[in-house]
Amino acid sequence: MRMAREWEEGLGDEHWNEETLNRAMEHPTEAGLRTDRLPHIWCPGCGIGVSVSAFIDALKEAEIDLEKLSMVSGIGCTGRVSGYMNCDNFHTTHGRAIPFAIGLQVANPELKVVVFSGDGDLMAIGGNHLIHAARRNANLTVICVNNFTYGMTGGQQGPTSHQGARTITTPYGNLERPFNMPAMVATAGATYVARWTILDLGRLRRSMVEALHHVGFSFIEIISPCPIYYGRFNKRGEPVDELRFYKENTEIKNFAPLSECDLTLDGKIVVGTFVQTQAPTLSDLVVGELPKRAQKARAKAAKT
Ligand code: SF4
Repeated sequence: MRMAREWEEGLGDEHWNEETLNRAMEHPTEAGLRTDRLPHIWCPGCGIGVSVSAFIDALKEAEIDLEKLSMVSGIGCTGRVSGYMNCDNFHTTHGRAIPFAIGLQVANPELKVVVFSGDGDLMAIGGNHLIHAARRNANLTVICVNNFTYGMTGGQQGPTSHQGARTITTPYGNLERPFNMPAMVATAGATYVARWTILDLGRLRRSMVEALHHVGFSFIEIISPCPIYYGRFNKRGEPVDELRFYKENTEIKNFAPLSECDLTLDGKIVVGTFVQTQAPTLSDLVVGELPKRAQKARAKAAKT
């Protein structure tokens, strides 16, 4: 952009000294990234990079201080996200991003703590932590990139794989029913729940801003292609064909009944904000209520 502007202003080749060229290399997302860690590991056509780009824009729009932002990821392709972010970040063990994040947030409630991980990490190995964080209304933003498979390990069936989907471990089609993520976390007690595809970039960004400003447990599911290990086995075509599928099959339905959020291989993808409410957070209880109760108990004990 800078290059175009400076050319418009009539600057010639002599203007392109080393400093100008370095500035021209800058990208709008650079402030949010550890550029020394690039190039990233993601395959061409993968939706994780798009999700990260939307998230960096959302951080700017929400005016989140990067000095007070901590990002936590588990294991998997999406688990690499936190390591690329220009803030305090933690790459934890498989499924344990959420308890790690809760510890950070309760110990320092000033922090904005975001968990950015994949469906296998959050819904399978970390599934128990996810529902209990939602039940406790832990003050976290959890962003789950759902590509329906374990991409990093070669495309095994996971808890969100569509019924009938072919994966390397279900060559005759997946027999199991997948989790309906929004229904699961909402039922467990999450106070902000949304779902978007990576094609809904503007809505996704705005939803991320809402989630970052939300006080309590906010959860966003991002439907995203894994063309290498899921799209290919399920005849999704080229990555652009998958995006076309999203365009033709997405239905925006804010506050839809959660039973309508089930996903099938070729059916409608209901997206939107499904839950937006308030309740006391885990920090309110642990940092606010617990010391009051302890003080009362000590006073009572001193009298006896
Ligand atoms: Fe993305 Fe799939 Fe490649 Fe992993 S294996 S980076 S999920 S396309």
